[in-house]
Amino acid sequence: MSITTFAELSLSEGINKALEEMGFTTPSPIQAQAIPVLLEGRDVVGQAQTGTGKTAAFGIPLIEIIDPEMKKVQGIILCPTRELAEQVMGEIKKLSKYTKDVRVVAIYGGQSYDRQIKAIRDGVQIVVGTPGRVIDHIDRGTLKLENIKMLVLDEADEMLNMGFRDDIETILSETAEADRQTVLFSATMPKPIQDIARKFQKDPVVIKVTREELTISTITQKYFEVRDEYRTEAITRLITANAFANVIVFCNTKMKVDNLVDELNAKGVLAEGLHGDMQQAQRNNVMGKFKEKRVQVLVATDVAARGIDVDNLEAVINFDLPMDEESYVHRIGRTGRAGKLGSAFNLVTGRKDQRKIQDIERFTKATIEKGTIPTLSEIKDIRRKKFQGYMQEYVATNNLDEAIASVMEFGENGISAETLAAALLNMHQAWKHVDVSDNIELRQGSGDRREGGRSERGGERESRFGRDRDSGRGDRNGRSSDRFERSGSRERTSSFSNDRPERGDRPERGGDRGDRRAPSDRPTDPNTVRLFINLGREQNVRPGDIVGAIAGEARIPGRDIGQIDIYDKFTFVNVPNEHVDPIIRSMKNNTIKGHKVNIEVAK
Ligand code: ADP
Ligand code: MG
Repeated sequence: MSITTFAELSLSEGINKALEEMGFTTPSPIQAQAIPVLLEGRDVVGQAQTGTGKTAAFGIPLIEIIDPEMKKVQGIILCPTRELAEQVMGEIKKLSKYTKDVRVVAIYGGQSYDRQIKAIRDGVQIVVGTPGRVIDHIDRGTLKLENIKMLVLDEADEMLNMGFRDDIETILSETAEADRQTVLFSATMPKPIQDIARKFQKDPVVIKVTREELTISTITQKYFEVRDEYRTEAITRLITANAFANVIVFCNTKMKVDNLVDELNAKGVLAEGLHGDMQQAQRNNVMGKFKEKRVQVLVATDVAARGIDVDNLEAVINFDLPMDEESYVHRIGRTGRAGKLGSAFNLVTGRKDQRKIQDIERFTKATIEKGTIPTLSEIKDIRRKKFQGYMQEYVATNNLDEAIASVMEFGENGISAETLAAALLNMHQAWKHVDVSDNIELRQGSGDRREGGRSERGGERESRFGRDRDSGRGDRNGRSSDRFERSGSRERTSSFSNDRPERGDRPERGGDRGDRRAPSDRPTDPNTVRLFINLGREQNVRPGDIVGAIAGEARIPGRDIGQIDIYDKFTFVNVPNEHVDPIIRSMKNNTIKGHKVNIEVAK
């Protein structure tokens, strides 16, 4: 039976009304298949791509089976991050808007227990939460499970990636007696998830909705050998040499996302980060900028990229190789869509990464060619050619009479037109704006100690990388990511390993980093100040120049810079209060594109 309308699903009046208001006219394939089966009371394993409407696929039946009279928790949805929990709660709220007396709450770490306990006591029926906090409530006795009718694992693969396996199993075991449906949704189905399904589900209906085949033929896949410490440099060069203006770079941890964003901005590459701990408003802000091409590079973790719908990217670059082959396919599937050409670039350090590349090649049945990072002189060449093209256009479309007269005058004073042009060129930042470092041997030298990731770990060396126990750790001679460990970071995304994070050390409590970012492009925001800069379109100023100059000179993260409005003769830029003084101080007497900057607080 193929269902093409919501009407065919015979949903309640309240849900239908909500769907209408939400603008959902036809069920997505995963909804069409999962909803009837869930309404029958069956367990479900649902696999479908990001953005295919999985939330409503379990949310609608969950709302339908809730007994609104009973003021007890009847449904639990587990999500990997607080951000996703909020998102799911929001969707369920909308779906249940016209279903009387159904209430939902999101519970996650970093939020006061009291509020959550009160909400639960006040009779919510649906709890959306991160596994750690849900367990805490179970342990405290504030969350009772005996009336659970449905338990949903949303983004199950990601939860396992984040080390929640034990927590999930605990919750599943503790609810085992309740006569409940167990529902599992995931974009990928690695073995640990199948294990959980086998162990905790009753005769599940497996629903798999695969997107149209990955059009790998239109994607140029390459890998680049690079030393760990030069990854940022390599990314900068690849982006610059290819003049990418719309690319996603994937990192495996939130901390790496933040670091890379800072480093790219410092090099004049316009980048913003996206990770699971950011608030919805911030994510929307970043995504808006990216879609409008005001941001060149989006640096993201897998989990953050889940919630976003961008495709037809010019390129996907893996700063870190993903944890498993399927994630690779999901990552690079965002480029080369609809017959367009795309690039998938991978940075590779050491043998372990090489093995991953081979695993990916086997999995995708495609060849990933070895590429070379462009040298500085190649990049200069490319930029010079671009600049020449730009100048040709400029000369063809502008009246230069007055300027030529001025050049003649220089000639009379002993400065030839050639010398003058060269001087101006030097002052002009456009063709040398991005700061790629000179003379760096990006590749690993053969005698390099890092090359031979010799098997300190013996037996584990040959493990398939999806389950490699130490992937994501600083196994490479205890270097690289060991600084993440030392700094006590919770942000390391472990692979499907047993190394469950310690209690109180769970991912969702990690970096609150997102929170300190004011949504700085709202001019009405009291924390934001609007600055006036005396340069604009006529000086060929672009948003990247402003961000590059401010981030580079005042040493503030590019992402703190808010809306930029460029007019013909001047520019307005919104920045957070606390950065105003350093920015004005450092920009005074500086130049952008060779033009002296005058900057002040806008009146
Ligand atoms: P997933 O969990 O599969 O990544 P979501 O449930 O987050 O996807 O849904 C992605 C987006 O699609 C959301 O904005 C959601 O509101 C919207 N959506 C879901 N189902 C439908 C539908 N049947 N018609 C229109 N939009 C839908
Ligand atoms: Mg989802």
